[in-house]
Amino acid sequence: MILLDRVTKNYNKRGTALKSISLHVEPKEFVIIVGPSGAGKSTLLKLLTREEKPTSGKIIVGGIDYETLKDRKIPLLRRKIGVVFQDFKLLANKNVYENVSFALEVVGMGNKEIARTIPKVLDIVGLTGKELSYPSELSGGERQRVAIARAIARQPKILIADEPTGNLDADHAWDVIRVLEKINKYGTTVILTTHNQEIVNKLKRRVITIRDGQVVSDKAGGKYK
Ligand code: ADP
Repeated sequence: MILLDRVTKNYNKRGTALKSISLHVEPKEFVIIVGPSGAGKSTLLKLLTREEKPTSGKIIVGGIDYETLKDRKIPLLRRKIGVVFQDFKLLANKNVYENVSFALEVVGMGNKEIARTIPKVLDIVGLTGKELSYPSELSGGERQRVAIARAIARQPKILIADEPTGNLDADHAWDVIRVLEKINKYGTTVILTTHNQEIVNKLKRRVITIRDGQVVSDKAGGKYK
């Protein structure tokens, strides 16, 4: 499903963000990526979403070989990959329903299908009843769950969660993690980056540790060190 073969990324001549990384992630896996700041985690995620191109190496996601991927096909790729960020990136002037519906309108989903989809995704993230609330009226954990609802509404095969709990207190962080686990159980591959040691150690999932642009450990049920 996700294959990286000797992927290197140099942003400039001075430094190498990723040094010949090889990785294989199976469909429906739940993978946690950890590593100190500057290790290369964001670069890895940006390569997967095609925000950045590798300097060398092969990337294949869901059967799409990035080397031969035409720019006009990138929106198609992005529909396979949902992304949530630490800072939620919700539209402040739209309510919960509108934040999710807007994301579906822009990919051309019809109104009927949107009306069918939104209650389902709000139920998954535990926000039924909050449709008319604006982001400013929600807790951080609820905002992040709106962002997750928006990301999964297009039924991506892969959900990338880049430090989704970074701005949340412990209880809200766990609410978000439980939602990610639920989505994974329904069949979506989840790739999570986090600095939260307790979350990593309690989840007991595959943990890939990146340091200085290299994979230094890759273990099922791995610990944060
Ligand atoms: P992490 O997400 O683990 O903190 P990053 O992938 O952001 O790490 O960064 C890895 C390395 O690449 C760092 O040395 C960083 O300074 C460098 N880097 C990241 N983005 C850019 C960029 N757009 N231009 C130049 N260097 C970058």
